[in-house]
Amino acid sequence: MMPTPSFNRSLWAFHFNSGSCNGCEIEIVAAITPRYDPERFGIKLVGSPRHADVLVVTGPVVKKMKDRLIRVYNQIPDPKLVMCVGTCGISGGVFHTSYNLDGPVDEVIPVDVYVPGCPPRPEAIIHGVVAAWAKLERLEGGSA
Ligand code: SF4
Repeated sequence: MMPTPSFNRSLWAFHFNSGSCNGCEIEIVAAITPRYDPERFGIKLVGSPRHADVLVVTGPVVKKMKDRLIRVYNQIPDPKLVMCVGTCGISGGVFHTSYNLDGPVDEVIPVDVYVPGCPPRPEAIIHGVVAAWAKLERLEGGSA
C-alpha cells in the first residue's frame, strides 16, 4: 500500500544510467507519464545534478561509468539521497559475473533507497521516491 505523505517540499531527481540494459529506463519513463503524473506532487526529473535532491541510479556500474557516477554524486548539493532502481544496481543482477563491473552501486556511492525488480514496475519506483522523500524530510527536520 502506498504511504500517504505530507511533505513540505518538492523532490527533484536526476537519473544516471551506469550501464543498464534500458529496461529500468523504460519503467522510469512510464512512471513520469500522465498516467501517474508525479509532477502534480512536485516530483520531477531535472537535467542537471546541481538542481537535484535525489540521484536515481540504474545499471550495475560498469567500469567506464564508475568515475562518472562519483562525479555526478559529488555535484548534487547536500542534503542528498541516492535511490537505486533495479536488481542490477542492487546486486549486479544478470551481469553480476561480468568482467566489466565495478558495482553494484553501493560499492561506489552510499545508497539510501533500494527498488528491486528486473525491471521494477512504475508503482514500485514511485513508492521508492516517496520513501526517499520521507527520508529527506527527516534529514531536513521536516514533518513527514
Ligand atoms: S534490473 Fe533488469 S531491466 Fe533493469 S537494467 Fe538490469 S537487466 Fe535491465
